[in-house]
Parts: sequence; structure tokens; C-alpha cells
Amino acid sequence: MPLPTQPRTSHRPVADMIGRAERCILVIEDERDIAELIALHLTDLPARVTLASDGPSGLVLALQQPWDAIVLDIRLPGLNGLDLCREVRARTADVPILMLTARSGELDRVLGLELGADDYLTKPFSVLELQARVKALLRRAAVTAARTADAMAQAPVRIEQGPLVVDRTQRRVWLLGAELVLTPREFDLLWHFVQHPGRVFTRTELLADVWGLGHDGYDHTVNSHINRLRSKLGDERADAAFIHTVWGVGYRFEAAA
Ligand code: CA
Repeated sequence: MPLPTQPRTSHRPVADMIGRAERCILVIEDERDIAELIALHLTDLPARVTLASDGPSGLVLALQQPWDAIVLDIRLPGLNGLDLCREVRARTADVPILMLTARSGELDRVLGLELGADDYLTKPFSVLELQARVKALLRRAAVTAARTADAMAQAPVRIEQGPLVVDRTQRRVWLLGAELVLTPREFDLLWHFVQHPGRVFTRTELLADVWGLGHDGYDHTVNSHINRLRSKLGDERADAAFIHTVWGVGYRFEAAA
């Protein structure tokens, strides 16, 4: 389907994230009763809630403005929640996404998180649990935004590591002069690495520093992003030029001399 062209959402000012009383939350759910129940409880946070009842209109809304959070059902008419999540994540790493699924089990969990969802709830869920999860996502987003703003104020704008050039303000990457196309999350991951060459990060540390997730258990998310980033950097596991596996610990970035 044709997608609206949309500039990448930038990090908003910290004061805006933390100090604002009312959040804007998008709920994409086709079951009207559930959608209205969710809206009712999120309005209490307080938040201004916008509802979308199918995938395509949900995607347009999701990309139209910066949201404080998106609650996303997996089974939707027109475009399912997993594809929608992937489309949103390809354009912005910032917005917290809570997925709703009718199926329990590890597959949904892994799929959802690998696609870039931040949390998930299995139906039927209690609305108070949903409210608590969304609150936690908003809190985490505020902390991440504050940390990002802090790091941005101190970090350099462009880093060169051997043949690799990473530009933070343009969010662009060049390897041997050729530009690489990275997703927002892959860029954030690479930017984090190039700032600390030689330092070993555990997966839990990367989740906290890059994803802003304050708990472990989502190692698979880190692994799959590292693998995709490596393949874009041309890193072969046995002869890695940039991202090295430190067995039993995590990953270390080092530019080949
Ligand atoms: Ca549904």
C-alpha cells in the first residue's frame, strides 16, 4: 500500500515529555467495545486518546504526529498490527508501542518485540493492567528522552571510526564513502557503539541504553538487531570488522585499523 511520506519524528524537548500533564495516545483496535474501554481508562491518566479502527487508517494516524504512546492490536482489518508496527518502527524509534494479542505464547512475544514493540498484553487483559503498562511506557520514554537529551548535549556530532563515518545530526552513516541505509533503531545502536569503541556491552545494557527498557529478558531483540546491523556493515561473524561478539558477555565495537 502507498505510504505517506513523513519526516522522521525527532526527539522532543525533555520538559515537554516530563512536564506535560496530558499525553496523546493512539489506540488502534477494531473491536469497538474494547477500544472504547481502553480509551476510557487511558483518558484517566490523563491522556487525550485517538481511536483508529483498522490498520491502514491507524498507520496514517501513527505517522501523522508524534504520539506519547501507541496501543496496537495485532489482528486488524486491512493491515495487521505486526506489519503496522514494522512500518512505524522503520520511521521512528521513539514512540512506545504496546501490542495487544489474542494469542498467548512465546511467538507473539518474540515477534512483537523483534518488530520493535516495547511491551505486549494478551487478551483478555484487565484495563487496570493496561493502564499500568501504558504508564510504565510513558515513564520509560520520559527517562530515555532525558538521557538522550543529556547525551546529545555532550556527545560529538560526527564520529569517524576507520572507514566508518556516523553523523548524529543527519542520522546518516557512510562506509568507505558509500551511504548505508539503517532503521532508526539500528542507527541508535551503532551511534551508541561508536561512542564507546573497545567497550563491552551486555545485551541487558544495550536494552537499557538504546531501547530504554529497564528489565532483561529480551535478549533476542538485541541479537536480531545486531545481526541486521552487522550484515549492513558487511561484518562476517568469524572476521568481524566492527561489531565483535564477546562470548558469554555481549558485544564490543572496534573499528579495524
Ligand atoms: Ca482485533
